[in-house]
Amino acid sequence: MTPNSDYRVEREQLLREIDREMTATTGYTGRDRLRPAVRAALARVPREAFVPEGMEELAYANHPLSIGHGQTISQPYIVALMTEVLDLGPEDTVLEVGTGSGYQCAVLAELAREVYSVEVIPELVEAARERLDRLGYRNIRTRCADGALGWPDKAPFDAIIVTAAARAIPPALVEQLAPGGRMIIPVGVSWLGQDLVLLTKDADGGVHSRDLLAVAFVPLVTSDRNLGGG
Ligand code: SAH
Repeated sequence: MTPNSDYRVEREQLLREIDREMTATTGYTGRDRLRPAVRAALARVPREAFVPEGMEELAYANHPLSIGHGQTISQPYIVALMTEVLDLGPEDTVLEVGTGSGYQCAVLAELAREVYSVEVIPELVEAARERLDRLGYRNIRTRCADGALGWPDKAPFDAIIVTAAARAIPPALVEQLAPGGRMIIPVGVSWLGQDLVLLTKDADGGVHSRDLLAVAFVPLVTSDRNLGGG
C-alpha cells in the first residue's frame, strides 16, 4: 500500500506514541517494543480511510472512534499490541472475529499470507469489503456470520484475533487454532472489567493462557449465552 502522504506526519507521530505506550506497559504485556515488521505494517495502512467521512482528522489520535451501528474502530495502541503478540509470519493464515471498519484486518493483511474476517453486522461487513477492495487488498476474505463459531472450512488458523469481548473463550475458536498457534481475545463483561487474554496452543495441542492487561471492548454478539459479552 502507498501511504497517503497527507497524513504521513500524523502517522509517524502516532507510531511514536504507540512506542511510548508499549514501553510503559511492558510489565503487563511482556513486550517492550513493536517488531519492525509490525511497525512498518502500521505505517503503511491509511487509517483515515477507515473512519467515517468527516472524521479523518481524528484518525491519528490514539483513541477508539465510533464507526456507527454502536461499534468502534479500536484504539491504535491496542491494534498494535494485539497484532504484535500474534507474532505473524508471511506464511500465516489468520482469522479475525469482528471486521468492523476493516482497519485491524488491513494491518493483519500486511503481515500474513491470508486473512479471514467475520463480522455479524451486514452493513459493516459490506462497507469494510468495499473499502479493503478499493485499497487493493487481495489476501482478505470477509463473511457475515457469528464469529464465535469461527470459519470451520478454512481452519486451522495460525493466529486468531477477536475484537469484541466474549464472556468466555469460544471453544470453536480454540479448536480451530493450529498447533503452535496464538489467539488474542478480550474476555469478560464490560461492567466487571475485561482482560486481554493471550492463548497459545503448543505442538501437542496443550493450551496455555495469560492475561495481558485490562481493556474495554464492545461485547461479542452471539446466540450462545455462555459466550456473549455485555
Ligand atoms: N476490528 C475492528 C474493531 C471492530 S469493533 C476494527 O478494526 O475496526 C468489534 C466488531 O465486532 C463490531 O463491528 C461488532 O459488530 C463485531 N462483532 C460483535 N460480535 C460479533 C460476532 N459474534 N461475530 C462477528 N463479529 C462480531
